[in-house]
Amino acid sequence: MIVCSFCGREIEKGTGKMFVKNDGTILYFCSRKCEKNMLELKRDPRKYKWTKRYVKGGIKKKEK
Ligand SMILES: [Zn+2]
Repeated sequence: MIVCSFCGREIEKGTGKMFVKNDGTILYFCSRKCEKNMLELKRDPRKYKWTKRYVKGGIKKKEK
């Protein structure tokens, strides 16, 4: 079963979208909402409660 790259929900066969980035990374999206959040808004799914990847209490700052 394919899982949405943004929200982490399972995608049924025949639905959703497969997106291949220029660098070869394959992303799957269950909906336009997920696609937009990932590609256009460049959001981190761990920050949003409506995704399955949400991390309670937020992410520890490691970046930079
Ligand atoms: Zn999704």
